[in-house]
Amino acid sequence: MGPLTTIAVIVLSISFLVFVAFFGRLPALRRTPVAWLHRFLWVGLPNGINRLDDLLTGGRVIGSCLRFGNFMMYDRHPTVLIFYVLLLSVGEYLYLPAAWPRLSAFHKVAGTVAVVLPYVFLFLAASSDPGTITPANHAHEMARYPYDFTLFHPGAGCPTCRLLKPARSKHCSVCKRCVARCDHHCIFINNCVGAGNHHWFLLLLLSTAALTAYGGLLGVRLMTDAMRRRFPHWAGLWWRARGGEGMPLGEWLAAWSWGLQDGGLGTGGGVALGAVTLLAVMTTPLVGALLGYHVWLVYCGTTTNESMKWADWQVEMDDGCAYKRRLDARRPKDPNAEPLWTRWPVEAEQVLVRTRDGNPPAPDAELPGQGEWEKVWRVRDLENLYDLGFWDNLLDVFVPGYVFRDPSMPPAEPAGRRRRKKRRARRTYLG
Ligand SMILES: [Zn+2]
Ligand SMILES: [Zn+2]
Repeated sequence: MGPLTTIAVIVLSISFLVFVAFFGRLPALRRTPVAWLHRFLWVGLPNGINRLDDLLTGGRVIGSCLRFGNFMMYDRHPTVLIFYVLLLSVGEYLYLPAAWPRLSAFHKVAGTVAVVLPYVFLFLAASSDPGTITPANHAHEMARYPYDFTLFHPGAGCPTCRLLKPARSKHCSVCKRCVARCDHHCIFINNCVGAGNHHWFLLLLLSTAALTAYGGLLGVRLMTDAMRRRFPHWAGLWWRARGGEGMPLGEWLAAWSWGLQDGGLGTGGGVALGAVTLLAVMTTPLVGALLGYHVWLVYCGTTTNESMKWADWQVEMDDGCAYKRRLDARRPKDPNAEPLWTRWPVEAEQVLVRTRDGNPPAPDAELPGQGEWEKVWRVRDLENLYDLGFWDNLLDVFVPGYVFRDPSMPPAEPAGRRRRKKRRARRTYLG
């Protein structure tokens, strides 16, 4: 069997199994081999393996497999971090010896910086405390942000850490701790991304995107320089190939194939440079999109965690179960539930609640705020208290303790002292 036939057989078998998995329970296929195979794969086979394991080892193999699966899914471990470092290091080990002698002094310096920075930011993002909330720093963390009475209401506690949850914090089930302004748990850095390391995470994304883009472009340039030397008629666009009458597409592609596999370095160095260049070119849009998404979240003054909460609220709004009303920024605060002073320059002026039946909350319900309840249909009809505008949001991310409001200012100073205008909440989620 040739390699092409082998690949075809593997692809066909996988497609057939996927078909069985999706359609094996369709009534139309009852009493057909597809349904029998589905039953065998989903019921018979697992039961058989279980029974065999019970018989041979007393169920120890399955038990440890389940424990291992649990550990991989729900515990902190550096598997993906090691994979990421290996991918970077092996790529550089293959690429640099082939490319280095052909680089100018400028690219040797810039290339060194581009190679070193992702390691530095990865180390800082992975080893910094993302903002663990402990009894010792709890008061300080409570003063980080005011409650917005929209996504974060005062009085909610974390049953695991036995502490009041500060606004914008989240309990991470992988790290098993509450994290200040928790964005998400990132398996690439084996750490949460929170108030303490969000800036290192953004710089890691930026430096990785810069490295893959730079490495990809440089690799393509080295390759095309070699291709031009070997195929004098070759040009970047095949219909513009030099020599007047262009170059047949087949020849043009053959030149690329030679560039990727040999590139004037002989097959060893050429394949290494070509493969890593190809990988860099293909991963650049992915890393770039991830970086763009996280910069967009900062621009919107929100986090991954909060954007999921906004998405949940959109569902409530679509059902007609979301209501808001005014909240007096100068209201008296309960010092046991809310901090009296926060470094944030603005205070909540809206309360958002969900009701079960789509009717406004009963007048005797003890809910914060004043005045009539108003139905909310769209996220943009709400304020996002945590959006101060892009530059201040960026300042908040890069200087985690930056004090936007003077501590000598009286508690809950009204809206007149806002640094900027109110900002509407933005949609940051898909769907
Ligand atoms: Zn917690
Ligand atoms: Zn975590």
